[in-house]
Amino acid sequence: MTTNDSEIQLDTNTILGHPKGLFYLFFAELWERFSFYGMRALLTLYMVNVIFLELVERDFAAAAVYASYGSLVYASTVVGGRISDSILGFRKSIFLGGILMALGHFVLAIENDYTFFLALGFIVVGNGFFKPNISTFVGSLYKDEDPRKDSGFTIFYMGINIGGWVAPLLCGWLGSAYGWHYGFGLAGFGMLTGLLFFWSGIKSGVFGSQGMAPSEEKLEEKLIGIKRGHLISLLAFLSAPVIAILLASYKAIGSGEGFLEGQNIVNIIFKVVGLFILCYLAYILSKVSFEERKKLIVAIAITLFMTLFWGFHELSGSVITLFASRNVSLTFLDAAQTNSLNSMFIIILALPISWMWTKLNKHKINPRTPYKFGFGLLIAGLSFYILALSGNAADQNGMVPFSYLLLMYFLLSVGELFMSPVGLSKITDLSPKRIVAFMMGVWFLSSAYAFQLVGFIGKQLAIESDDINVGGMETLSTYIGGFDLISKYSIGAGIIVLISAPLLKKLMGNIH
Ligand code: GLN
Repeated sequence: MTTNDSEIQLDTNTILGHPKGLFYLFFAELWERFSFYGMRALLTLYMVNVIFLELVERDFAAAAVYASYGSLVYASTVVGGRISDSILGFRKSIFLGGILMALGHFVLAIENDYTFFLALGFIVVGNGFFKPNISTFVGSLYKDEDPRKDSGFTIFYMGINIGGWVAPLLCGWLGSAYGWHYGFGLAGFGMLTGLLFFWSGIKSGVFGSQGMAPSEEKLEEKLIGIKRGHLISLLAFLSAPVIAILLASYKAIGSGEGFLEGQNIVNIIFKVVGLFILCYLAYILSKVSFEERKKLIVAIAITLFMTLFWGFHELSGSVITLFASRNVSLTFLDAAQTNSLNSMFIIILALPISWMWTKLNKHKINPRTPYKFGFGLLIAGLSFYILALSGNAADQNGMVPFSYLLLMYFLLSVGELFMSPVGLSKITDLSPKRIVAFMMGVWFLSSAYAFQLVGFIGKQLAIESDDINVGGMETLSTYIGGFDLISKYSIGAGIIVLISAPLLKKLMGNIH
């Protein structure tokens, strides 16, 4: 924000020692993530069972679309963050994003193959305006250096995961008991509830003067006869069909050989942009001072490690959901509902793990960030190893016990807590102040690029079959082989990070 510090008025009312506004943002984000993860729980199964039902390569197509959607849904946050900073401000951006997302979920509730892609387009753009800005809004409720800020973010992360826990259970249940579209519809109502919380926060004045557009004149200024603010909203709505076309293009270049085989336009755009970002980072590294360069190298390294971690983690919405539906003996939950397990464990583990870091800190044995990242990747590898081991316990129908999936999600969530919240705060510490916003954008892009990896793995593990009810022995070995390989890569990466940790630690200087 360009607002001057002296002009900022913070609301002084508190709840549980935190600004009152935090709790409005907590509930708004809880419901937004409810819609996001409720829909995600159904997405792959819906594509495989409905949208691509006629195709023998339905898994491949679903993996391609899931990956492109995931990449774009996180990449759009970079654009949404920039537009909010320079023109709209948090409040307007969050409203615009929330309305677009709700619209996307409601369009998904229409039974039609064409509107399906349009719906994903709306969610991609909506998330771009909503997600980065509500997170930054949380930070802006506190003064810099306020010691309550970290625990404020932990509370906020809890809200995210309460949404991520409950939504797959409810949307999954509605989806299987009444039909897919009821599940998607509920996600839309979830998003509207989030907006209602946000609106009531604004009405009750809990955000003080925070989140306004940086300049009213700029917002009102007319371009081609339309006010700038309105023009942005219009363009946001219009970009949804463009994204829909990109997403629907999964087969456009797919028939080629070699490098471009099985690629869609989104994959190619991401490759080109990725190359550009790497060159730009190299250029920045050459321009900054020696001290800044050392820290920036670590910031880039941990972003790359995070990309790898999310690349395995985000398989939960695609390959692991399909594995659960085809090869896991499920009794209490259905395959869509298993998507709630990660968030459930985050809720259980977030406070004990952050308490553990504080305790270790007191004894001066709190591991430095590179070690936490190394262990995070090792634990992720272990979680996939557990899933690979489940093959040994399969019954004669090729179904493995649920306990393996449960243990896998438990470990993956521990790995997430070793890396994600720690990394977020380190990026701000390690980046030179003048490029910290850009580095935040790069951090969010780690999730976007992770989905490219998810797509690659998903395509490797795609089952081809005429039979829509394929599963059991027919699919078990493909999945087990894949999980085994993923565990080796993740453990290997963890070991490399741990070996390079002493060097990274040196480069970090006084940053923990
Ligand atoms: N689960 C977290 C959220 O939804 C982080 C997801 C990610 O960055 N890939 O906010």
